[in-house]
Amino acid sequence: MANYFNQNTLVYLNGHFVKAADAKMDFFSQSLHYGYSVFEGIRSYKTVDGTTKIFKPVEHYNRLEQSATTINMPYHWKTDELIQITDELLAMNQLGDAYIRPVVYAPANMTFSVNTESFLIIQAWEMSPFLGEKLLRVRTSSFQRPNPGAFHLQAKAAGHYVNSILASQEAKANGFDEALLLDMQGNVAEAPGANIFIEKNGKLFTPPAGHILPGITRATVLELARAMDIPVEETHFVVQDIYEADAAFYCGTAAEVIGFESLDNHSLNLRWEDSESRKIQQAYKKLVINQPIEVNEMQ
Ligand code: PMP
Repeated sequence: MANYFNQNTLVYLNGHFVKAADAKMDFFSQSLHYGYSVFEGIRSYKTVDGTTKIFKPVEHYNRLEQSATTINMPYHWKTDELIQITDELLAMNQLGDAYIRPVVYAPANMTFSVNTESFLIIQAWEMSPFLGEKLLRVRTSSFQRPNPGAFHLQAKAAGHYVNSILASQEAKANGFDEALLLDMQGNVAEAPGANIFIEKNGKLFTPPAGHILPGITRATVLELARAMDIPVEETHFVVQDIYEADAAFYCGTAAEVIGFESLDNHSLNLRWEDSESRKIQQAYKKLVINQPIEVNEMQ
């Protein structure tokens, strides 16, 4: 199993920086027993001028607050305060390119009642792209995304990720790199931990909000596509559309932008290098490290 800290690593735990090795939580927490917690996945990057910058920290910490309040967890932190704490945590742990994981969790409570308090831990570690850097061999999952009538899917709640884990494990057990989940109507939804875009005749398509976690990277890709004059549409599509697509990619904070080699062993029509999607991938890589995106890439 991976090792996320060493003897010197610090975490931020309920108002204090403490050694990760000494951090404790209550094993009677409602979060551990029922998956009732919310979290974020944020990245920082060493930028071209040598400084470390958290990418879209306001968006991430605002979503953490939204996630908590959406599922009735008390939340008393301020976004700007948490950004400052995270900057300090990165500096203390001498991290540049890092993955940052805040978790808001519940106190001891074996009932299903609302709590009067919540707790917060912020952890950070170095992490390479979540799905690797090679084009992905993706498999359509037998697991659907959860019914949005059963969960607040727009909240990044821990319990939702049992669905993600099942789907991803199934894909890997069948020799693939990652799963693709459909929604309960049979439309394409998303990856276990990332959003999807497909490309056809120079145009990008991504599923609309509703059955997905509409990611911050997805929003960034939409912004980049518009700035680069690549047409893009939020609309439903099905697996057959991906079999016939020119390119496809997953995007998320942890995964960044990563192309498909195939879906269910159907190759994409274009070589990744020849796609508009590849241009988006390159622009994203530059954006996160504050490297200017050249004018010809913007056309
Ligand atoms: N969908 C799911 C289910 C996810 O877990 C993630 C990762 N947070 C995403 C999409 C992408 O979201 P973001 O770009 O905000 O990281």
